[in-house]
Formats: sequence, structure tokens, C-alpha cells
Amino acid sequence: MNLILFGPPAAGKGTQAKRLTAERGYVQLSTGDMLRAARKSGSELGNKVAAIMDGGSLVSDEIVIELIEDALAQNKGAPGFIFDGFPRTVAQAEALDAMLAKHGQQIDCVIRLEVDPQQLMNRIAKRFAEEGRADDNPDAYKVRLDAYFAQTAPLVPYYEQQRKIRSVDGMADVETVARAIAAAIDAR
Ligand code: ADP
Repeated sequence: MNLILFGPPAAGKGTQAKRLTAERGYVQLSTGDMLRAARKSGSELGNKVAAIMDGGSLVSDEIVIELIEDALAQNKGAPGFIFDGFPRTVAQAEALDAMLAKHGQQIDCVIRLEVDPQQLMNRIAKRFAEEGRADDNPDAYKVRLDAYFAQTAPLVPYYEQQRKIRSVDGMADVETVARAIAAAIDAR
């Protein structure tokens, strides 16, 4: 089972991905987490992407595609993958389809978290106060939302054409969202 958790920044993808990992043993592949780990380690890649991330823009397709390619190779035999924060552009989605096909696999389900951007602004202001992630500051968050609508939203028709999208109300509490996601996966 390979699924994509899809939705705007701060929609709750990471929270739900971690639950699915704990409950079903799927491997979470979050390009945001990978990039943050690269920064923490002080690697050349980490230094290269730091300013782009803090400003809220997307890093290049080439970089994230390579990260995912390596992670897939390192996790052969996993019972499933949850892609969280990837793909974020049509080019990334096409590359993912090609990579999975090479391993004889495909995306089975795209869970779309439906959220209200205005309420997300409030959510993220709270996370910024609690965790201090630079790209959660209001200006950078606005850039992230704009990037989502311009570059990532076109993935909806891409996956609708493949009939893979299942929509879930992402504004409900964490438990309710988790149950709705589980039902959507099991209904496939
Ligand atoms: P969010 O909390 O907004 O879902 P992430 O943790 O997924 O954010 O990503 C944080 C930042 O890392 C993004 O704003 C972007 O700069 C970079 N990033 C993560 N994933 C990708 C991707 N697939 N393509 C391009 N940039 C990415």
C-alpha cells in the first residue's frame, strides 16, 4: 500500500503519517523531515536549501526526487510507504510514478486533507509560538500557501484522472481525521 497524504502546509499530514506508521508499519517518507535533517547535520545539501526553506519557497525538484529515490532504495520490502510533503509539483509526481514503476509498484491512494486556509494561519501561528520553526512565521507561511496553490494544487487533477483521490475533512480533531483516513484506506 503506497499512499500520499495531500494538502496545504500545516494541514496535519505529518501528524497523521506518524499515526499510520505506528498502526500499520508503513514507512513515512517526508521530504520536509529529510531536508530538516540535512540542515541539522550541516551537510552541503542542508546549507544549500536552508534559505529557500526559511523563506517558504520550494527547493528544486531534482533535490527532493533524489532524496525519495535514495529512501525507496533503502527501504526495499517495506509493507507500504506514506509520502508526506511529496510530491509537491507535477514533475515530482511524474518522477514518483516512474520510480515506483521501476520497483513494480504504484500509488494506491491519495488522501486529500480538506482544510480552511484561514484557520490554518491560526494553527501555524500557534506552532510558530511553540516550536519556532522559521518557515512558520506569518510571512514565510504566506509564501508556502501561495506555493501550494500555484505549484501543488495542480496535482489534484493529476490524481483525479488516475481516480486515486479520497477526500477527508482535515479540520476535525486528530482522532476523527485518523478514523476517516483509516476508513478511506480500508475502503479501497
Ligand atoms: P509543511 O509543514 O509545510 O507541510 P514540510 O515540512 O513538508 O512543510 O516542508 C518544509 C519546506 O521544505 C518547504 O516549504 C520546502 O521549502 C521544502 N520542501 C519539502 N518538501 C518539498 C518538496 N517535495 N518539493 C520542494 N520543496 C520541498
